[in-house]
Amino acid sequence: MSVLDLARPEIRTLQPYSSARMEAGGAQIMLNANESAWEPAGDAALGCNRYPDPQPAALLQALAALYGVQREQLCVGRGSDEAIDLLVRAFCRAGQDAVVIQPPTFGMYAVSARIQNAAVIEVSLAQDFSLDVPALLAAITPAVKLVFLCTPNNPSGKSISRDDIERVAQALAGKALLVVDEAYIEFSDQPSAIDLIGRYEHLAVLRTLSKAWALAGARIGTLVANPEVIGLIRRIMQPYPLPLPCVTAALVALSPSGQVAAREHIAIVREQRVLMRDALAGLPGVREVLTSDANFLAVRFDDAGAVYQRLLQAGIVVRDVRRYPKLHDTLRITVGTPEENARVLAVLNEMTLNKVQA
Ligand SMILES: *Cc1c(COP(=O)(O)O)cnc(C)c1O
Repeated sequence: MSVLDLARPEIRTLQPYSSARMEAGGAQIMLNANESAWEPAGDAALGCNRYPDPQPAALLQALAALYGVQREQLCVGRGSDEAIDLLVRAFCRAGQDAVVIQPPTFGMYAVSARIQNAAVIEVSLAQDFSLDVPALLAAITPAVKLVFLCTPNNPSGKSISRDDIERVAQALAGKALLVVDEAYIEFSDQPSAIDLIGRYEHLAVLRTLSKAWALAGARIGTLVANPEVIGLIRRIMQPYPLPLPCVTAALVALSPSGQVAAREHIAIVREQRVLMRDALAGLPGVREVLTSDANFLAVRFDDAGAVYQRLLQAGIVVRDVRRYPKLHDTLRITVGTPEENARVLAVLNEMTLNKVQA
């Protein structure tokens, strides 16, 4: 059995759109794509009058080196959000198939599934936000085509152990594609699951430049999987998913000096995460600061709503995650610059002082 047997049959046989850029690129006179012959005003020699390369070789090369894989194992799109959507559409038949998620977790898995009219099977994380492997495996039915694991998890910040990922991967062989979302892995001490792809053909890993690589605005996300899965996803991808200015920005970020800057900022976040955790944990009104391997902290408050409002009045917006199961008293606070973090602490300190005086 091939992992492609899990995919929608009509996607496997689909004749993909053949773009002008794919049919013929690199000639001197390009009259095959109805582009303008003139660069737009302010183009800065980017060449935006031409359609971009669907999967630019230089970007694939840089990402393959970064993630330690072959280019055939990568597909680059508009953030990991696009990869999530494409995976759901390629593997789930509307009204028949299902995905499994572990709440509280990232919202886009369920949104993409619902858009496709795939069922969403929820297997709650354990009380300490670790993965409940037996419950997860018990939920696997023949309808389940995708299982999403988020590590470190958003919004709890907790990582899934490599042993658990492997246990799930072993159990899902021949049954479902396991999708490990590593949007925050750069902030964690845990190793990536990418090296397991060689052993499990039904394993896919999502990586992004949006968080640690400071490129949320450029929308560059990567699906890492075995070449068969990559080939399938490329068939249904938009013909030109990557805007030229975004590719240029990504190449600068991934250059040697860009990598030095990214690693410095990751180190600052990790340092600040410890300082913030300790400072927040010592404040009255804070019930708990969840241990986080990501660039945010989930913080339980006696009155999360009041804290949210007070921060907002001070011009600071954090994420209210009280609608998530197990997090009814929680705000998710991104680790910012040392100055920004100090502002958060100052506002919270002032709030508790006022309370003591009142
Ligand atoms: C932010 C986030 C993403 C989305 O990343 P993009 O690459 O910007 O689309 C994916 N997964 C998780 C868990 C996230 O928190």
